[in-house]
Amino acid sequence: MTGKLALFGGEKIRNKSFVTCALIDEEERKRVEEVLSSGVLSGFIAKAGDAFLGGRQVKELESEIKKYFGTKYAIALNSATSALHAGLLAVGIGPGDEVIVPPYTMSASATAIIMSNAIPVFADIEEETFCIDPKDIRKKITDKTRAIMVVHLFGGTARMDEIMRIAREYNLKVIEDTSQAPGAVYKEKLAGTIGDIGVFSLNQHKTITSGEGGFAITNDENLALRIQLIRNHGEVVADGMGVSDVSNIVGFNYRMTELEGAVSVGQFKRLDKLNEHRINLARYLAKKISKFKGLMLPKEIFGKHVYFVFPIIFKEDIVGVTRDLFVKALNAEGIPFGAGYVRPIYLEPMYQKKIAYGKDGWPFSACKNQASINYSKGICPVTEKMHEKELIMTGVIRYPHSEEDMDDVAKAFTKIFDNISELKK
Ligand SMILES: *Cc1c(COP(=O)(O)O)cnc(C)c1O
Repeated sequence: MTGKLALFGGEKIRNKSFVTCALIDEEERKRVEEVLSSGVLSGFIAKAGDAFLGGRQVKELESEIKKYFGTKYAIALNSATSALHAGLLAVGIGPGDEVIVPPYTMSASATAIIMSNAIPVFADIEEETFCIDPKDIRKKITDKTRAIMVVHLFGGTARMDEIMRIAREYNLKVIEDTSQAPGAVYKEKLAGTIGDIGVFSLNQHKTITSGEGGFAITNDENLALRIQLIRNHGEVVADGMGVSDVSNIVGFNYRMTELEGAVSVGQFKRLDKLNEHRINLARYLAKKISKFKGLMLPKEIFGKHVYFVFPIIFKEDIVGVTRDLFVKALNAEGIPFGAGYVRPIYLEPMYQKKIAYGKDGWPFSACKNQASINYSKGICPVTEKMHEKELIMTGVIRYPHSEEDMDDVAKAFTKIFDNISELKK
């Protein structure tokens, strides 16, 4: 393809912007209207009894979720962050405990551990899945390790067989942060149904959304009850419910409103369709750009990958230019790609300064194993390499985009590779 690179003043491949709004349908509108007309915007009351579990829309959402995942329990909350926190508290995580978590994830996967007064211990990711590396989990286990926070990143899943084997061996609880992979499949099992608790997000930027919201799933009756108590001021409800183990039953207000419930019910019914749309666009785009050397395209390793984003490992020694320059050139052509994902979490100031609650370093000061709170640069080399040098990604493989939109992305890649010697100068 001819034409001067837009980065050097040439014409852009694409002038139209990519839109990223949610698909809202008749069902959501109808349900929201019903809620508004009823005048009951939240059905929760913090008291033993029917209203302890919320209103009609929230209950209907939970029943849809249970049907979809085939789990015994589903608990809707006001965010995935709340669900992660409630999940950690429910499995008994507390002061002095260590929880192993990958550093390449949305901050809340790790912050929920701090919120539970426990210590996040970071285990590196592996290149193939972008998810936590079971081999590094083993290295990070101490006598204080109580749980593993698995994150199914970018729409793919972590290596669950190995992770569950380690969990059984060391008697660790497993929470699956599935915020980026609702509907993904690991060897015929839905992601989020394999560990003790699965957590999902309904935030604006996720596959299905009610603006803010989240939910947890589990097959364990006691864990479900504890999450319900933590969601809804459990300390004043425990007695009325006949719950005698009140450890960690510090109730928050993590309740979902009827409006969010109403929107989520409609959204939830469209999850598979939205995922299929992503899968089709991702495969289409992959085919179009597979000929370029130096790009390692995402793999569908264990089953259904739901492409929350489209991640590519970029090899600058093969392509001949740095990742950051390549991304700049793509952006100049009107194609939104990011260089790296988030900064490895342990490099954020809360970890670098080991200051969270108060000024004295709680909960880090409760850590018995000094080596576990090593948050120095270099502790997770794969994550750092992805972040600093190799990962590029885009979120355009989603509704309402089409194959023609993917053609623009592919054209930009072709144009840049055709002009790579210009870029090298
Ligand atoms: C978005 C996200 C969260 C947080 O979800 P909220 O609903 O916004 O609290 C947690 N973990 C991961 C991996 C996420 O992508």
